[in-house]
Amino acid sequence: MKPYLKRAWAEISLPALRKNIETIRRMNSAETEIMAVVKADAYGHGDERICRCLASDCGIRFFAVSNLDEAIAVREFCPDAEILILGYTPPEYAHEIAQYNIIQGIVSTEYAQALVKNSFEKILCHIKIDTGMGRIGLKHDTPEACAEEIKQLCSMEGLSVEGIYTHFAAADSYSPDDISYTDNQEKFILDTYAALEAQGITLPHVHFMNSAACCCRNTPKSTLARAGIIMYGLHPDVSLEIPQELSPVMELKAVISHVKTVQPGDCISYGRTFTAEREMRIATVTIGYADGYSRQLSSKGEILVHGKRCRIVGRVCMDQLMIDVTDAQAESGDIVTLIGRDGDDIITADELASIYGTIGYEVVCGISKRVPRIYID
Ligand SMILES: *Cc1c(COP(=O)(O)O)cnc(C)c1O
Repeated sequence: MKPYLKRAWAEISLPALRKNIETIRRMNSAETEIMAVVKADAYGHGDERICRCLASDCGIRFFAVSNLDEAIAVREFCPDAEILILGYTPPEYAHEIAQYNIIQGIVSTEYAQALVKNSFEKILCHIKIDTGMGRIGLKHDTPEACAEEIKQLCSMEGLSVEGIYTHFAAADSYSPDDISYTDNQEKFILDTYAALEAQGITLPHVHFMNSAACCCRNTPKSTLARAGIIMYGLHPDVSLEIPQELSPVMELKAVISHVKTVQPGDCISYGRTFTAEREMRIATVTIGYADGYSRQLSSKGEILVHGKRCRIVGRVCMDQLMIDVTDAQAESGDIVTLIGRDGDDIITADELASIYGTIGYEVVCGISKRVPRIYID
């Protein structure tokens, strides 16, 4: 392990990642291969080590990213992988897409034409269909009309269509209305695929499963499962049950820099939002919102100190925060756990997310660059 500054750091467990992949493989049917979603620096876990581990140790062949920069990075880590760009690439970069042998998601015929015009080499692609997410993709009233446009794309010079895909808007919900909405999304893409087959066009891939779908509506009809958040051991939505074998890959730690006793009337942190009403022991911790530990956790979040939960007191600062350690054992230099397990207790990114009304995705993606990722193998 490389030396690093023990101020605030994230520990990334590669054994947990490998086990999560095994679990997802068991959840999926044999017909479905995992497409590892490693956008946004592998959801904040660090794309290099995550991709190398997935490709070398887990045998993952398919990767999905959000943009060309991420795709080129993954190409370096995984020379043989199939890499799909889910989002938009400006057409003037079409040449790079081809040069790095990347698969581009196609959002419209117009976009496909612009890409082809900008590249001498063939562009590999999967065609995105908007079946209800309302974000990007071909949009049609019927699968037949959609298949017709895809058929034209398949015959376009300079384009090699290898699959179609869509994205669910609410697969993480148990509400009957959302379930039937997702049913319709799934039916639309499968009917589109069937309509293409009826015309003699059999594409290697049709995919629509995300993490939520892996957990609650798994089907062998999706050739790929675009697994993101469950690979990192978090919930697509806190209300959605995930197999208990899945465990969080990231832990977040920091250090106690200072411990003091305060008297009734003493104030803590900016804005004097906290005033001690009794004698208390207060510890200062070396992490703040510039590290991605949200200021919205001010006076609300808890931190594990020697296995005991200690409440944040007052506002989270840019680089530091204060906690109440009156009932805990705490000394300068002690390591504390902001996300992860310590003793019998655990604080998850999902728990922090629910305190301030977001999702675990945003918590892990938001851990900033300043926080070194330390890989445990
Ligand atoms: C981010 C993303 C995924 C992965 O979603 P998870 O909920 O993390 O599994 C899959 N497909 C598309 C198109 C995405 O943008």
